[in-house]
Amino acid sequence: MKNISVASRRVGALAAALFILSLFLSGCASSTGRLSANVEEKQLQNFITAHVAKIAPLATQANLAYWDATTTGKSADYDKFGQLQLKIRQIYSNTGEFASLKDMKESGQIRDVRLGRQLDRLYYAYLQNQIEPKLLKKIVALDTKVQEKYSNFRGTIDGKSVTNSDVYIILTTGKDCRKRELAWKASKQVGDAIIDDFLKLVKLRNQAARSVGFDNYHTLSVVASEQDVQELGRIFAELDELTRGPFAQLKEELDGILAESYGISRKDLMPWHYHDPFFQRTPLVYELDLDLYYKNEDVKELAEEYYAGTGLPVDDILARSDLYDREGKYPHAFSHDVDRRGDVRILCNLQNTERWMETILHELGHAVYSKYHDKKEPWLLREPPHSFTTEAVAMFFGRLSRDAAWMQEMLDLSDKEREEIEKVSEKYIRFQQILFARWAMVMYNFEKQLYANPDQDLNNLWWELVEKYQLVKRPAGPVDAGWASKLHFTTAPCYYHNYMLGELLASQLHHHIVHKVLKLESDEHISYAGNRKVGDYLRKNVFAPGALYHWNEMIARATGEPLTPKYFVNQFVK
Ligand SMILES: [Zn+2]
Repeated sequence: MKNISVASRRVGALAAALFILSLFLSGCASSTGRLSANVEEKQLQNFITAHVAKIAPLATQANLAYWDATTTGKSADYDKFGQLQLKIRQIYSNTGEFASLKDMKESGQIRDVRLGRQLDRLYYAYLQNQIEPKLLKKIVALDTKVQEKYSNFRGTIDGKSVTNSDVYIILTTGKDCRKRELAWKASKQVGDAIIDDFLKLVKLRNQAARSVGFDNYHTLSVVASEQDVQELGRIFAELDELTRGPFAQLKEELDGILAESYGISRKDLMPWHYHDPFFQRTPLVYELDLDLYYKNEDVKELAEEYYAGTGLPVDDILARSDLYDREGKYPHAFSHDVDRRGDVRILCNLQNTERWMETILHELGHAVYSKYHDKKEPWLLREPPHSFTTEAVAMFFGRLSRDAAWMQEMLDLSDKEREEIEKVSEKYIRFQQILFARWAMVMYNFEKQLYANPDQDLNNLWWELVEKYQLVKRPAGPVDAGWASKLHFTTAPCYYHNYMLGELLASQLHHHIVHKVLKLESDEHISYAGNRKVGDYLRKNVFAPGALYHWNEMIARATGEPLTPKYFVNQFVK
């Protein structure tokens, strides 16, 4: 015992000595640690300063060129835009700079939050452009070839070539089931025409992803946009569970209406009996003509008045914008942050219809997001943390054009008129949202498996997912590559799930604003019109921080919890 105690005392003394030594050492280590962190942080700050000095003017020029191109339609402007984009891409493909960013990231020495976030943004921007030039050239060439084939292809009905709008008219109004079947098949024929080249493209994209250390292109795309495959899987699984029953119920009701309209039995309903080639839109059986309410209004003035009322004035944005239809002008709509210093504009082709009411509210949602980024934040952080977060805000406002309470408030409707809109519109919106969720699950799961193994029986996999999520029957006989007629596979790969995340966040923001910001019991008859608290809340918690936080941290800070499908389900499913 004694010996042991002497021994232990000795050990103790030795330990004490070592402890002091280690204190000294750790003192040293931590001060050199801090010192080297300062060096790393300084080095990063210098890198950022030089980088932004190069990239910010180029980005502004490119944005202005794009604006000129889309407002005039002149090919010289499109060329200029293309050249500037190439210059920007060249900067991000620099391998030496990427390597030093990677070192800084792995060093663990960047402790300042703002610097850390800027490093993340830079790292992923460079990562996506680290594809070997020869391989990149092959990908771009094949991509162009597939897109060209796609746009020049015309499907046929009984040997006669048809356009997309011919197909659309037959599918939305046709009663002849044989003709519907042929129109639906015509819309899918492009799939078989491009499939060989498209699968080659998928394999090249995978090759590129593997060359920078990822399993496949899907994983690279998800990680490079700061998302996580597991987290996405969790969100989609929860959404599946919560929407499965209600969707089955709504679809059964719809099937009854459709079967009756064609004079067939429910069990004979085939994919061509739904009004959309992919059953991603609600058939027009619940449609109400909302244009009636807008045709004598000015959608621009309504939008301007509404945004001013919520404390998010847009008069400066509208003054810089290009709002009306013109020869040669881009026919759709977008919002454009030109310089991250306040020059924000939208492009529209306004008409006084419900669709354009929705569009201008939507684009101005993107625009106020950009306008109210805190200009004191560094340039690299003056953008949304993810494209789906700005999409969510745009959807949050865009949804109002069909909202009965909002329409009553803005268009001075009577209670009776509001009730009438409510009856049809609510059902339509509810069905549309659930339907879209089921469709987005098909897209997400298919694309994930497509890139994981492009050599599997994809045509069969497609129909397994359609049967599972959309409850639509596959046609008899061998299946073709009709799925590849969905343009997004080619032009916006591995992105589709973000439309759904945008819807989820729009509902989460809606719920938080109603219950926590405005402290209301329910969202019945809520229009947010004239309520500045809404604008104040969004500006401070969502717009101002820009990309200062990872998207899910921004959401958690703004709403008290990370992104969840719960509130989307509350709003539309229950
Ligand atoms: Zn949008």
